[in-house]
Amino acid sequence: MTLTPEQEAELQRLLARRLSGEPLQYILGEWSFMGLDFYVNPYALIPRQDTETLVEKALELAEKLELRTALDVCTGTGCIAVSLKKLGRFTRVAASDISYECMALAGENARRSGVDIELYVRDLLEGHGSYDLITANPPYIADAELPLLQEEVRHEPRLALSGGADGLDFYRRIAQSYKEHLSPGGVLLMEVGAGQAASVAELFAGCETELVRDINGIERVVTVRRRA
Ligand code: GLN
Repeated sequence: MTLTPEQEAELQRLLARRLSGEPLQYILGEWSFMGLDFYVNPYALIPRQDTETLVEKALELAEKLELRTALDVCTGTGCIAVSLKKLGRFTRVAASDISYECMALAGENARRSGVDIELYVRDLLEGHGSYDLITANPPYIADAELPLLQEEVRHEPRLALSGGADGLDFYRRIAQSYKEHLSPGGVLLMEVGAGQAASVAELFAGCETELVRDINGIERVVTVRRRA
């Protein structure tokens, strides 16, 4: 097959973007997560396999404990919320993000998968009601590690990555207010960075917590159960 001069020029443009370190996912404009297709853009973190661990655990607990309503905060592309609605048996799924651009993207992704989810522009749990399940993949990279991230990750929004001095700022905020937003017997699931699971679980001392490993054996998800 021979490329036309226009196709050749377009290929060179795409290659130049990739060679400059831009992630393949942003160049393609879409990526797969939980077997579903999601639009991606530089306003939101690219859906990662690590996060499938959280969705799988959430679906398992929802079946076992009959959790019927769900809220995903820091939703970004909406990949967690859309997957829960598409693959689970929730009557109601809500998603929120502090970024308007992310919520526009999450809305497009819900339409693409043919699911109905509620969309809110909100800061973490502020302004939300109460749900049986709350999920979050908040920013969790420590300040000192931000400059050390691989080139591709540095093309992703800092807003989605930066978790403060020790990376735990958002977990502290969630620990302060989650009880007002979780039904009795409900579950909170949070993705955490490598090495953070024990420190995050400590923020929820006195609650029933569980650490879940990802497929690489890293403790990736912290679950917190509210007493019934
Ligand atoms: N998993 C991402 C990374 O290490 C970080 C995601 C996040 O901060 N929530 O590149």
